[in-house]
Amino acid sequence: MENKTVNVIGAGLAGSEAAYQLAIAGFQVNLYEMRPLVQTGAHTTDYFAELICSNSLGSNLSDRAAGVLKNELRRLRSLLMQVADEFELPAGGALAVDRDLFSEKVTRILSTHPNIKIYREEVKEIPSTPTIIASGPLTSSALSQSI
Ligand SMILES: Cc1cc2nc3c(=O)[nH]c(=O)nc-3n(C[C@H](O)[C@H](O)[C@H](O)COP(=O)(O)OP(=O)(O)OC[C@H]3O[C@@H](n4cnc5c(N)ncnc54)[C@H](O)[C@@H]3O)c2cc1C
Repeated sequence: MENKTVNVIGAGLAGSEAAYQLAIAGFQVNLYEMRPLVQTGAHTTDYFAELICSNSLGSNLSDRAAGVLKNELRRLRSLLMQVADEFELPAGGALAVDRDLFSEKVTRILSTHPNIKIYREEVKEIPSTPTIIASGPLTSSALSQSI
């Protein structure tokens, strides 16, 4: 492949998984996360994959749509599912996790992966090189304008 570097904007839930999957597939990843320099109105830590509000990831039952999706993610070796299963808390048929242990471990794995370079900065414009935008519902206003 000609260009094996991919930018990922946002180390939330989607961006953390995307960065990890790219990295284990052999891509070089530039992972941009604006927290803690620029905060959103809802996140409270500087961890990657922070769960805001509820610590439940929804149904874990294999006869529910959300449960089927989780099993598919497990088969695809999802990092977030591996870590969620490790820090699962009792929650009936739902998959709830210890939010701090979950996010701290995702942060540690991504921060120490040799194929991932972390940039703690706000991206204000869509880069011209291959990029996944995973800045979520609380995308900063400058990047929103650019999008
Ligand atoms: C107030 C609120 C409460 C919510 N409560 C729930 C809930 O209880 N349960 C639920 O399932 N969902 C909830 N959601 C939806 C929740 O946001 C999504 O489920 C989930 O976080 C989306 O994941 P994501 O990876 O798309 O975005 P996020 O997890 O938000 O990750 C995006 C990341 O991008 C970073 N970022 C943004 N702009 C830039 C930029 N310009 N440069 C660099 N980094 C940037 C952010 O700091 C963030 O870390 C809530 C949303 C809001 C706004």
